[in-house]
Amino acid sequence: MNQNNTNNPIAILVINCGSSSVKFSLIQPHTGDTLLSGLAECLLTKQASITLKHAQEKTVLPLTSPFDHQSALAVLVQHLHDNNLVNMIKAVGHRVVHGGEKYAQPVLITAKVEQEINQLAALAPLHNPANLIGIKACKTAFSQLPQVAIFDTAFHQTMPEKAYLYGIPSTLYTEHGIRRYGFHGTSHYFVAKQAASLLNKPLSECHLISAHLGNGCSITAIKAGESVDTSLGMTPLEGVMMGTRSGDIDAGIIFHLVNKLGYNIDDVDTLLNKKSGLLGLSQLSNDCRTLEDAMLNSLDEKEQKQATLALRVFCYRIAKSIASYSASLTQLDALIFTGGIGENSSWVRAEIIKQLGLLNFFVCDEKNTAARFGQGGNIAKENARACLVIATNEEWVIAEQSAKLLEL
Ligand code: AMP
Repeated sequence: MNQNNTNNPIAILVINCGSSSVKFSLIQPHTGDTLLSGLAECLLTKQASITLKHAQEKTVLPLTSPFDHQSALAVLVQHLHDNNLVNMIKAVGHRVVHGGEKYAQPVLITAKVEQEINQLAALAPLHNPANLIGIKACKTAFSQLPQVAIFDTAFHQTMPEKAYLYGIPSTLYTEHGIRRYGFHGTSHYFVAKQAASLLNKPLSECHLISAHLGNGCSITAIKAGESVDTSLGMTPLEGVMMGTRSGDIDAGIIFHLVNKLGYNIDDVDTLLNKKSGLLGLSQLSNDCRTLEDAMLNSLDEKEQKQATLALRVFCYRIAKSIASYSASLTQLDALIFTGGIGENSSWVRAEIIKQLGLLNFFVCDEKNTAARFGQGGNIAKENARACLVIATNEEWVIAEQSAKLLEL
């Protein structure tokens, strides 16, 4: 293995491609140092722009026609050349959302792998096609570099049948792949590894419940270092309530919406994926910061009540989900909070933890208040079970796993 050192530094370009955006970072895989990062957004519109963060400077540039992913990568390639960063890049690592049952590990992208990612678009129609756009654009922009796919579903491939099967006719699984896959796997894996180091034991001996709380939210039970259950399902709509997604509802509500209230199936899709969750309940915002501010400071009584209710339902549903994973584990070392909300909102964490006293979770107010903006650690009261706040870093995992696959 080529040890990373200052004489011979290597870096992986990490790409997370959406239908109208490309998030990128240049990461040293052995240390996690980020040399450059940025985001191209509003792609395929005339407002398309790219933001580059490099050497503590932020540059925003408009993109030129055809305003697409390739236009964004052309600006990135030029910037990498101008700053002598090209030679150190040894591979491109792509976040790919759905790897189905086929991909439990990172893989070097070949024509066959691309074809399979395309086939898996049936299970992730919003994400896999966008990920493929990124792969194709990078193959053109970085034709000499190996491209690696890291799948968001991979970490959850260790789930047992009893956790991944739905209570529906088994032929829907055997013939159509309808089962629970889970997402946010890269994040849950990263924070589990960090937790192992905080707990001072190997990951393979750690028993954890990890709560990734951001715009999307998921809870994962980790037994001896492996995912044994997770709250997101065949699609990222199942499980706890999220920013705009409902999470679990009675499936009968869908029939009621269609049969009695005149919704068509696209309306239901939009309602449950884009208009529900914190946004739907509060009728105010999907953003936790905005809701906390309204709860604590709003002079409008109705607004204040709705924000409070939305946050309380959010926390209760998460607490219930965490408690339910005591059925998946036989031991429990710690609860982990990560994601934008989990890493920063002391109010949400306290509200969740105070409903989990039966599992011996008790929060230390002082430590909880201090744990935000990158400051993590154990926020539990003395003698209570550990509650760890850990900043996630999916990009580092993608860089590290790409380097490992390529033996860099
Ligand atoms: P993510 O999807 O992981 O980027 O997380 C986005 C969510 O994190 C949004 O709901 C934000 O409001 C929330 N968030 C970020 N910073 C804070 C903060 N300081 N307090 C509360 N919520 C926050």
